[in-house]
Amino acid sequence: MPLEFDQARTMVIDAVRSLSTPRRTETLPLERAHGRVLAEDVLADRDYPALDRSLRDGFAVRSNDVPGTLRVAGEVRAGDRSLAPLAAGHALEIMTGAPVPPGADAVVMVEHTSRINHDQVSMEQTAEPGQFINRRGAEAPAGSRLIPSGTRLDASHIAALAMTGHTAVLVFALPSVAILATGDEIVALDEQPAAHQIRNSNSFMLAALIRKAGGVPEILPVAADTKDALLPLLRRGLEHDLLIASGGVSAGKYDLVKPALRELGVEFRFERVRVQPGQPTAFGIGHNKPVFGLPGNPGSTLITFQLFARPALELLGGLSDPLLPLLSARFEAPFRHKLGLTRFLPARLSADGQTLRHISWQGSSDIPALARANAFLVADHDRESWQAGDAIRVMEKP
Ligand code: AMP
Ligand code: MG
Repeated sequence: MPLEFDQARTMVIDAVRSLSTPRRTETLPLERAHGRVLAEDVLADRDYPALDRSLRDGFAVRSNDVPGTLRVAGEVRAGDRSLAPLAAGHALEIMTGAPVPPGADAVVMVEHTSRINHDQVSMEQTAEPGQFINRRGAEAPAGSRLIPSGTRLDASHIAALAMTGHTAVLVFALPSVAILATGDEIVALDEQPAAHQIRNSNSFMLAALIRKAGGVPEILPVAADTKDALLPLLRRGLEHDLLIASGGVSAGKYDLVKPALRELGVEFRFERVRVQPGQPTAFGIGHNKPVFGLPGNPGSTLITFQLFARPALELLGGLSDPLLPLLSARFEAPFRHKLGLTRFLPARLSADGQTLRHISWQGSSDIPALARANAFLVADHDRESWQAGDAIRVMEKP
């Protein structure tokens, strides 16, 4: 029984999670850590904030003194040190980020006050206890976990690392990924293809996809459609953390990738997924490593890499939760497809990201159509037609 794409994806994720491969780590300077996967928990080194701080420019007060006219006891700026307690009937002029004096339990925004003279300020409104005060430890108490290991570091994580004084950070090493293109008709880029031949676009597309997903690609020589050609190259591929082959996994007489991989000890977990493009996608485990046989048409290779191989690569790279974020947009014109398969089709999103149109293509070999697209629409297997204005899920184009 062939799997739906989400079931197949879950199978990949579960299988790779259960592999007992130790993950390598390395230490990087903070400036080079963006986009890498954290290999340690990052903890708060002190309370954040480290003292009660004002969230506004205004006056620190005792809330039960307002409304009223208060004596101005002085001023406090961001960067000023510890303060005398605020006496009853007094207000302290305070700047955003400055420490709130003991005794004060609220800050009144400067806009809601009128300065009577140098010594006095009046406030017409009541103040809630705690208002505009960022309490010591309210963001994170000392010792609490700010970022768990297994997180891909985005710009806010870099800020959290800098805030806690990390000049260097422990991250997982990038997994190495072997790419093996197969097919008698495939020629190298620097060869002039005859009409019956095509250039090896998949290896280079896969290398780009792998780099983007956090792996180090190694392109192996193209394998001809014979076991003799395939076996030594697949064996080399299995020395890497992950092996991705393209082509040779359909039902043809010369589709020998799966039998060759079986000979090398790979056990397949699935060999078919109910997606288009990419139905004959095969996934297995051999020598404790994930192995993919992706169908060779470039559109199929791209989509099935994104759906299935990418989460495997991300897990090998230490990421705890691989995601497949899907957006939503509305069709500009009616759209239909045949029931039964979930289709990932080239599409063009409008500049505001709200609407989309389907790009006609000749099928999964059509690289020019892929190049015109800026997204993929995701047509559910159990829905046949959409009217203009109907919402459709959208997958980013890597
Ligand atoms: P296959 O999956 O081997 O049946 O290949 C399906 C189609 O994808 C064939 O028309 C191939 O020519 C094409 N194809 C296979 N490998 C590549 C490659 N490395 N680069 C570009 N196209 C390919
Ligand atoms: Mg082939």
